[in-house]
Amino acid sequence: MRIGLLVIGDGNPIVVQSMCATKTTDIDKTVVQVEKLAAVGAGVVRIAVDSPRDAEALAAVRERTRANLSVDLQENYRLAADVAPFVDKIRYNPGHLYHHQPGRPWQEKVRFLAETAGEHDCAIRIGVNCGSLDPAKREDFASGDSIGPMLESALQHAELLDSISFVRYCVSLKDSDPAKVVEVNRRFAAERPDVPLHLGVTEAGMPPEGILKTRLALEQLISRGIGDTIRVSLTVPNARKHEEIEAGRQILDDIAAGRMLSGQDMLSGGLNIISCPSCSRVENEAFVELAGQVREMTRYAAEYPITIAVMGCRVNGPGETDDADLGLWCGPKFVNLKRGNRSLGAFSYAEILLRLKRELDALIASLS
Ligand code: SF4
Repeated sequence: MRIGLLVIGDGNPIVVQSMCATKTTDIDKTVVQVEKLAAVGAGVVRIAVDSPRDAEALAAVRERTRANLSVDLQENYRLAADVAPFVDKIRYNPGHLYHHQPGRPWQEKVRFLAETAGEHDCAIRIGVNCGSLDPAKREDFASGDSIGPMLESALQHAELLDSISFVRYCVSLKDSDPAKVVEVNRRFAAERPDVPLHLGVTEAGMPPEGILKTRLALEQLISRGIGDTIRVSLTVPNARKHEEIEAGRQILDDIAAGRMLSGQDMLSGGLNIISCPSCSRVENEAFVELAGQVREMTRYAAEYPITIAVMGCRVNGPGETDDADLGLWCGPKFVNLKRGNRSLGAFSYAEILLRLKRELDALIASLS
């Protein structure tokens, strides 16, 4: 499948990619980040677009870089028409299509995206994510089954694109749990070995743990010939975003040389902190620092089987924290906190760590 100047799948080298975390409307900073990522080996750089202003900014970014660009669409799929002339790939999430124009069938929306992509020489990624599944699809499966709806969603969307003869597409199936990433991608590849796969562990978190989680999933897939492009999603400040590409290249080199960790019990069931890699949608730049503070503050609970999720925005934060024991997502001035599915309110950036500690202590007490 061709994306701008490169081709993935069909035995071509695996491409490492990343995503800008700058505000898309900050054209200068976004161009600098695109160029830095491309300079260290990013084959494709993704940029989030949520508004007509973002779309205008992306057009200006395009004029200043030759990198292969992908647009990340969320709720307003129709923005594809504004940005397709300026990018090489369109990523849409099947789980977000229902928000905008809820009365319009998803099939019509996908046809619109395919026609738009076709007119402007763009590839498509069907990007399925565990934390933002289509609610209608979830209902078809048992409540604890997250793999079934992801797989079904990807297969249905792929079939639709096939049925309208749109062939330049790839699929991603991401979860924050490396074992689920392995299972869902193995099952998809068994059914559709012809479709190129973009691999990654979503919300893998901060290095080194985030790299380790991604490595464990990629080793098991790539060593079996599954995967055509990868992203290592890391919670790092903007100035360190290039580490995603360096980590991805190192993982690929190690797999090629047989230096594998798989089979070792590296993630042994203690405290698990997941955090998003941030993107243009982050609502307060304190997010990355907060994720680091959460990791430090919770070290005393390392042995407990508890998952804490820290997310950067209100768009994906509520959904992506659903499976965590404690979830935080950032707003401009407040951080929202929940325990399981129960909201505990919004707290200032100064208060949140203390409030989180209180909940963590209560959770630990309830386990013993
Ligand atoms: S949770 Fe929000 S800020 Fe974080 S990567 Fe996802 S969309 Fe971006």
